Amino acid sequence: MSAFDFRARLAALARDDLTRTRVVLDAPCGPQAVVDGQRLIAFAGNDYLGLANHPEVVEALREGASRWGAGAGASHLVSGHQPPHDELEQALAAFTGLARALFFSTGYMANLALLPALAGRGDTLIADRLNHASLVDAALLSRATVRRYPHGDLAMVERLLEAAEGRKVVVTDGVFSMDGDIAPLTDLLALCEQHDALLVVDDAHGFGVLGERGRGVLSHFALASQRIVYIGTLGKAAGVAGAFVAGDADLIEWLMQTGRSYRYTTAAPPALACALLASLDLIDSADDRRATLAAHRDRLKQGLAGARWPLMPSHTAIQPLQVGANSDVLTLAAQLRARGLWVPAIRPPTVPAGTARLRISLSAAHTAEHLDTLCRALIEAGHD
Ligand SMILES: *Cc1c(COP(=O)(O)O)cnc(C)c1O
Repeated sequence: MSAFDFRARLAALARDDLTRTRVVLDAPCGPQAVVDGQRLIAFAGNDYLGLANHPEVVEALREGASRWGAGAGASHLVSGHQPPHDELEQALAAFTGLARALFFSTGYMANLALLPALAGRGDTLIADRLNHASLVDAALLSRATVRRYPHGDLAMVERLLEAAEGRKVVVTDGVFSMDGDIAPLTDLLALCEQHDALLVVDDAHGFGVLGERGRGVLSHFALASQRIVYIGTLGKAAGVAGAFVAGDADLIEWLMQTGRSYRYTTAAPPALACALLASLDLIDSADDRRATLAAHRDRLKQGLAGARWPLMPSHTAIQPLQVGANSDVLTLAAQLRARGLWVPAIRPPTVPAGTARLRISLSAAHTAEHLDTLCRALIEAGHD
């Protein structure tokens, strides 16, 4: 085992303050967390609308399990595709206004299926440097040439498109998961049109939150095009689990026929699709929750205006506080924890070296008082 020496490699992680520990959350997902018997206010999840523990979603899951059982028992293309899966796909296509949607068990799996279905050897994927890890891995799996551009750098996208060989696909997060900013999709789409490229948008953090009645980032920019391939994930604002890819009907059929992480995996339990149908109805009528979320964001920005660490420029529910060094962000997270607040410290390789940050994520389930408690604690920690 000497060639592997896991103990030494773990020690190296620890030396760089890069060891992760799992926190056991002894409560349902929500702002009121219990960890090691301590009650904490959590700003740690992606349940932006507070639907993960919504009684109607939970009830739909329960009823779905009673009606359809616990497991699907096979992949979708063999015998695991049941009416709730089918109904959910139709509801997602109608909700997003796209021609067809394909349901996956996770966003990671959706991305792993999608990029290799769109591009292969001799083709070119042009990807934002801050894209989510699942898109990075999917790009590698595709065997296409991968060109990564500095975050949001449209001039570089243009140059890469001009130089690209084979089929061209531009790939971006809609809302960047560790920064909270929104990709310049209108300009990216224009470039894709000029260069006959596809535009893949991973809207894990925009679906349910942005746009008209939660339609997501395409609605936010009022964009519609057959060149757009849209990914929404269903474990964040939708509060359950899963993901979907939506777009042109032929493209989605191709993805279903060829996507390996679609074909060679067991279908998600049908009860999850039942829960997601309930969640989709709630998202559609959740303008009040989205307004609460926006008010929380503004309250946080105001409350932290004079703080020692700046908030990064974000207008979404993801509000990262820029700290810098790994050890400093861990210290700050521990100080907050001692004051009953749980905000995750995000370090490399999740974010570039030297840009460690607290990722404050807001939910409509938070109260104004939760926000005020957090702001007070951060201002005080800045004086320590
Ligand atoms: C969370 C996330 C994913 C992965 O989705 P899961 O359903 O959690 O696997 C993909 N892309 C982005 C941008 C994400 O933030």
